[in-house]
Amino acid sequence: MTIRKHAVIIGGSMGGLFAAQLLVRLGWTVGVYERMTSELAGRGAGIVTHPELFDVLRACGIDSRNAEIGVSVAGRRVFDDAGKIVGERSHPQILTSWGKLYAILKATLPPLIYNYGFNLKTVSQEENVVTAHFEDGTSVSGDLLVGADGIFSTVRAQLLPNVTPNYVGYIAWRGLVDEKDLSFETRDALCNHFSFSLPSGEQMLGYPVAGEDESTEPGHRRFNFVWYRPAAKENVLKDLLTDSDGIEHALSIPPHKIRPALIAEMRRSAQRLLAPQFAEVVAKTAQPFIQAIQDLETPTMALKGRIALIGDAAFVARPHVGMGVTKAAGDALALVEALSSVSDIPTALEQFENTRLAFGSAVIRRARQLGAYMQAQILTDEERSMAERHRQPEAIMRETATSAGIANCDNKEGAMSWAAS
Ligand SMILES: Cc1cc2nc3c(=O)[nH]c(=O)nc-3n(C[C@H](O)[C@H](O)[C@H](O)COP(=O)(O)OP(=O)(O)OC[C@H]3O[C@@H](n4cnc5c(N)ncnc54)[C@H](O)[C@@H]3O)c2cc1C
Repeated sequence: MTIRKHAVIIGGSMGGLFAAQLLVRLGWTVGVYERMTSELAGRGAGIVTHPELFDVLRACGIDSRNAEIGVSVAGRRVFDDAGKIVGERSHPQILTSWGKLYAILKATLPPLIYNYGFNLKTVSQEENVVTAHFEDGTSVSGDLLVGADGIFSTVRAQLLPNVTPNYVGYIAWRGLVDEKDLSFETRDALCNHFSFSLPSGEQMLGYPVAGEDESTEPGHRRFNFVWYRPAAKENVLKDLLTDSDGIEHALSIPPHKIRPALIAEMRRSAQRLLAPQFAEVVAKTAQPFIQAIQDLETPTMALKGRIALIGDAAFVARPHVGMGVTKAAGDALALVEALSSVSDIPTALEQFENTRLAFGSAVIRRARQLGAYMQAQILTDEERSMAERHRQPEAIMRETATSAGIANCDNKEGAMSWAAS
């Protein structure tokens, strides 16, 4: 009798779900351990897709006909500050949401393998067995442990304590508004495209996503915006993350705790700086939220022979490449392909790392290039002129949320570290 191999997956979001789906199809037994105590739906907003994401969904046996996954747009537009279209480019793309993908991936998993309320504390490894130890005192062992526990990964923090996220010097105001609440003119201008407004040193982008009930019918969808603004760490960021009770948060703040005065000021800035269509979107968004932009790069994805890091636990790129979910899916696929081609797990993990480490670094470098002009502090004139290349409307339409330039990301540019203040 063949003994089926067992994988312990830490984190039940995108990376964890893709890994679980693919390992089950490979014939492994799988347990997913998620620290949240209930459904994760509702987290985040819009997610841009890339063709590679649909390849992995297919490998999971999921029929990804466009209408099921998200909203299709035909192309991109740039608006000037008077609201006139000053650039247009054909670029068909499907825009989905975190909640929609999560629901599809979770619903198609076999029953009883997804476990809520398991907060990993430590991992240990003896020769051929790796064990996850949880906060409630329970432990689970397997042949392989997959760290899919996100940017603040507990797995990574234990095994690579010096690899930590880096605040990059700007934040994003984000939000969602019901399409039906927008004026006809704004809906017409924005809601069938991936659109931009480009005040100096900043970037506003937006696109339609499914409605709250996951409807993709025009009129029932929502419009998702992301507005990147410089925020020096010691003063602007600190102020933005000081909540309505006067408590300072490190890198994120619960949306309902954002001080109303800050939201009012942000809306006034939107009126002053953005194309009027985007200013209307901001004005009509009931609960905007703030995201401090960070990036993270690991030197290794295979640890101690039986532990793999995937998704945001390994690499977090600034969002300009829109690649986080596609990269998490691709990591899971590469891991499972390696495990299917080599039966020795440590050798398979080496093969996985050889396939994905360079790609993860290239994504990080590319996203740094695209976002550099928004940093609160850029160090040299050379860096500034390089950053300027990526802030022209044509370049922004061509490069944002695409995989263009990732494979041939040039090392010299990428190696520059633009320290954020
Ligand atoms: C502004 C912005 C815009 C973005 N836009 C896009 C986009 O357009 N397209 C795109 O593809 N991506 C986008 N992303 C990135 C995307 O959301 C992430 O890359 C993706 O969710 C990563 O999935 P993950 O499973 O690796 O990590 P996460 O989604 O962070 O999940 C980690 C999971 O692990 C759990 N966990 C953490 N610690 C523990 C523990 N100790 N024990 C048990 N469980 C634990 C967490 O609760 C969580 O459920 C964007 C991100 C930002 C900030």
